[in-house]
Amino acid sequence: MPVASPGLAELLAASRVVRIPLTTRFRGIDVREVMLLDGPTGWGEWGPFVEYGPAESARWLAAAVEAAWGSWPAPLRDRIPVNAIVPAVGPAEAAEAVRRSGGCRTAKVKVAEPGQTLDDDIARVSAVRAVLDEAGPGGRLRVDANGAWSVAAAATALHELAAFSLEYAEQPCATLAEQAELRRLVDVPLAADEGVRKAADPTHVLGLREAADLVVLKVAPLGGVAAGLRVAQACGLPAVVSSALDTSVGLAAGVALAAALPALPYACGLGSGRLLSTDVVSVRLLPRDGELVVARPDPEPALLDELAAPADRVAWWRSRLAAAYESMVAP
Ligand SMILES: [Mg+2]
Repeated sequence: MPVASPGLAELLAASRVVRIPLTTRFRGIDVREVMLLDGPTGWGEWGPFVEYGPAESARWLAAAVEAAWGSWPAPLRDRIPVNAIVPAVGPAEAAEAVRRSGGCRTAKVKVAEPGQTLDDDIARVSAVRAVLDEAGPGGRLRVDANGAWSVAAAATALHELAAFSLEYAEQPCATLAEQAELRRLVDVPLAADEGVRKAADPTHVLGLREAADLVVLKVAPLGGVAAGLRVAQACGLPAVVSSALDTSVGLAAGVALAAALPALPYACGLGSGRLLSTDVVSVRLLPRDGELVVARPDPEPALLDELAAPADRVAWWRSRLAAAYESMVAP
């Protein structure tokens, strides 16, 4: 349980549900709904994806409760370098995503999209590498397969994509056992994402150090900023903090974790604000010169009203909150 423990009635009374169109189709959705919680220590965001059940959603709720009823560790830095995010789009659109990223010198490219081929990935990665190099040397490029490759497919793909100088490959295979096998076949560093955040206990992930050179940490799926710090400490690997289609309220929690990590050797995946067409705050957490300022903006009441979800969706989120709450207090 988080620091303070509001009851369900208090959570429901503190909640607002917003509905925000995306700028690009991402993760199979065009519109993002989240519940925001207005607590005594600030606003928290609760936005488990709609297909997630109560147990998984309970961790996301613990993170929102930590934000709104608890506290975050003190920041050790005031700026967070972030990466451009390139969805599984064509090369021209991919290049545009980097150009419009707010000066990011690191790009993360989605690969291994179902229905696409390795040639599609090569075309996209090549276009992104060209845009990064236009701006001068030192541009970094990483790929994220979301666990979609087999070991053999990943080995083939990474051998090809290594020509574009990869910083690392994120979750190339579905399981960490496969990823450990792959790691013996390729030179590209490998990052674990789903393999950590979907684990029963992310602080004790079996075989993690054989499978990964670094870990991706997301505040909501791990249950909060403090939980994210514990995972980083427990695994002893470099960490990249990433977001999950959050509004600036949710991004602020990721920023708090990135600001609190003892070391931050890689750009973080917190530049995702641009995937949302608008936001609940007036000064959004968007990259400038490739960085986010460490800040925690509050939602504007007028924007909360303007973006309010329809009544049937609010009812759905409220019943979902009740189920996740049960799971959080009695796991
Ligand atoms: Mg990932």
